[in-house]
Amino acid sequence: MTTTSSPERAPLTSDARTRLALLGTAGGPNWWLDSPRCGISSAVVVGDKYYLVDAGAGVGPQIRRARLGNWESRLWGPLDGLRSVFLTHLHSDHVCDLNNILNNGLANGLGLGGPVSVWGPGDRGALPPARPGSSPTPVAPDSPTPGTRELVESIARTFATDYNDRIFENGIEGTDGFITGHDVPIPKEYLADPNGDPHPRMSPVPFYEDDRVRVSATLVRHAPVFPALAFRFDTDDGSIVFSGDTGPSENLVELATGADVLVHEVIAGEWVAADFPSPRDPVNEAIYQHLIGRHTLIEDVGPLAERAGVPTLVLNHLVPATWPVERWEEAQKGYSGRLVVGMDLDQIGIGAA
Ligand SMILES: [Zn+2]
Repeated sequence: MTTTSSPERAPLTSDARTRLALLGTAGGPNWWLDSPRCGISSAVVVGDKYYLVDAGAGVGPQIRRARLGNWESRLWGPLDGLRSVFLTHLHSDHVCDLNNILNNGLANGLGLGGPVSVWGPGDRGALPPARPGSSPTPVAPDSPTPGTRELVESIARTFATDYNDRIFENGIEGTDGFITGHDVPIPKEYLADPNGDPHPRMSPVPFYEDDRVRVSATLVRHAPVFPALAFRFDTDDGSIVFSGDTGPSENLVELATGADVLVHEVIAGEWVAADFPSPRDPVNEAIYQHLIGRHTLIEDVGPLAERAGVPTLVLNHLVPATWPVERWEEAQKGYSGRLVVGMDLDQIGIGAA
């Protein structure tokens, strides 16, 4: 197993009004040894507002390091500029610090710029099938596959003591409905069979719009995680697409067609094979199949971006998070556009400054 620390380069900078900010670029829930990368999270910045895509480990401090929102004041920023959070799927590495954003939020400006909505997949609707010969007891059997709305409600309920201390004792105002969870309204016909066809072919569904962005979603290939979503942000300055976690997906190619930037996950098949050598026991075989079948290999990501016709491909959710940048540059094969191997705190401008 390679344990080389990724060599640092200076983060890319941009003063563009609309830009992509990478807050964390490591893939997976592992606490990587010798990696400088934080957990997966990005932001779409439009002027003085921003939108989070996923909330992996470290997202709060990374928002401040990226100078998003009001970062000069210790008291009121930087969550005053946060409009909404979009969760691609509910794997822990994409969600684990949502709690941190919400729970520490009142001390960092959350809601001061208006109510914040959290959007993500709805209830899976059914447990994944158990491995043959096993019959595990589910966690929380009364609601074993909650979606985003229920997730946010549960966080608020769990930390109500802290919220109420701050609201009642400290006199923080404006908290009525300051945070709400919403399930992305994927049409029912595509959600009918989570264990049979978790990646039905579909066209993007617009579901969120304000004065700065219009956001669309599509289902991607990350079974047994379901629904797993990719998002497209359209702005007056251009468009950014986030793959979320997925194997090669035709739905994603359609979503990304005509966009300016595609932010795509990537995994190194060579590393997976080395870490899970054959013969594999059933547990390791299941992990191996998930890693190579439900993520996108280095050699596949460039041709996908080429087919979508995007001028810039940004790699994130790097597995392993320990590989040096040069090794990921193999993704240029089959892609004629600009390849950026994403680093934490990179900012990439969209359209005019
Ligand atoms: Zn995942």
